[in-house]
Amino acid sequence: YYDVLIVGAGHAGAQAAIALRQLGFEGSVAMIGDEQYPPYERPPLSKEYFAGEKTFERILIRPASFWEERNIDMLLGRRVKSVDPEGKFVTAGDAEIGYGKLIWCTGGSPRMLTCNGADAPNVHAVRRRDDVDAMMAKLDTINHVTVIGGGYIGLEAAAVLSKFGKKVVLLEALDRVLARVAGEDLSRFYEAEHRAHGVDLRTGAKMDCIEVTDGVATAVLMQDGERIETDMVIVGIGIIPETGPLVAAGAAGGNGVDVDEFCRTSLPDIYAVGDCAAHENDFARGARIRLESVQNANDQAKTAVTHILGKEEPYHAVPWFWSNQYDLKLQTVGLSTGHDQTILRGDPAARSFSVLYLRGGKLIALDCVNAVKDYVQGRAHVVSGAVLDQAQLADPAVPLKEVGL
Ligand code: FAD
Repeated sequence: YYDVLIVGAGHAGAQAAIALRQLGFEGSVAMIGDEQYPPYERPPLSKEYFAGEKTFERILIRPASFWEERNIDMLLGRRVKSVDPEGKFVTAGDAEIGYGKLIWCTGGSPRMLTCNGADAPNVHAVRRRDDVDAMMAKLDTINHVTVIGGGYIGLEAAAVLSKFGKKVVLLEALDRVLARVAGEDLSRFYEAEHRAHGVDLRTGAKMDCIEVTDGVATAVLMQDGERIETDMVIVGIGIIPETGPLVAAGAAGGNGVDVDEFCRTSLPDIYAVGDCAAHENDFARGARIRLESVQNANDQAKTAVTHILGKEEPYHAVPWFWSNQYDLKLQTVGLSTGHDQTILRGDPAARSFSVLYLRGGKLIALDCVNAVKDYVQGRAHVVSGAVLDQAQLADPAVPLKEVGL
């Protein structure tokens, strides 16, 4: 039995445990995780870790000794199979583990292809350390890589691989990359960058299946009959939230587990946090969404822990995110979905600019490429929701913090 049991030893789980001790909680705490490793940062898996620029030790969220020092039990390599909300226990293997409060922080599993050949051993997802280690072990012996999916993870992986000198083909089924998360200006900019770095980036690209020869993937076959020879396939087409046991126990949800402003699920004493938690987000005009970001995992974990400790502080954090590709540092703040206008600030050709997203004249989000100042100064405007002078917004000579009404 633990006073607080955390399921999932990723970003949200780690932050929940850290926050409990930071805020003075003295009860018993354990974290159950199905990976073998203590919590580590996931973003470097498609960036510095994959590129060999950071070791695994350097991407641990805390040094391995931290958890023991804080009296947080780590039950690693164990997967929670079911939850009994009446008896207040979970099952993991043969063990039943009781809880006072349960924090569900299980993230998501990579969505995989369903076509022929999708399960070949050289078809890889990018979600866990083991996924990336498996790819890295093969890199020396391969040349052609096909990346499926032009979201952040696919693009970041393509950038690392092209730096390694691999021949990369990137296939995006929609008519532009990053279509789900960014405006067209940003998509076109990144498409051009990848092409300039030698990536054969194709949009509107419809694959059919994967050709397997002697047990390994040897080509991606396209619907138009083209055969793209490949030594490895990387699939970055999104995640499916890991909510099975909670939903089976009766928790409300559809795309993720539904939570309220304190990250409570519909089941008593069970909270859900991070990629798996569907919440009504103020920056999405109250729409119920899941956010897949470190910011959201950390801030929701603090919200849940604060509530467990008896205070009501509703979740109201500004969404932010980043992506590194080549020498380009993208930082985003706010949520651009639902914008009715964009303003380009700065010159993409100079490789330092921002795309500003407005709705009804209000700045709701920024995508800043090598433009840290815009990112830092734009945040306050996104929070305040004021209608701003558009000529000033578009003028990079006027610092965003000085833009007036
Ligand atoms: P996770 O960190 O995924 O942790 C969930 C953990 O729970 C996992 O270890 C999982 O194996 C475990 N688990 C699942 N089910 C069970 C079960 N039943 N029992 C026990 N354990 C279980 N975000 C950014 O903000 N910026 C970035 O640049 C960025 N880049 C990314 C790059 C990559 C390659 C990936 C994969 C993600 C990236 N993200 C980025 C997203 C970010 O990593 C996630 O939003 C964040 O990890 C979410 O934290 P989480 O705790 O909800 O889930």
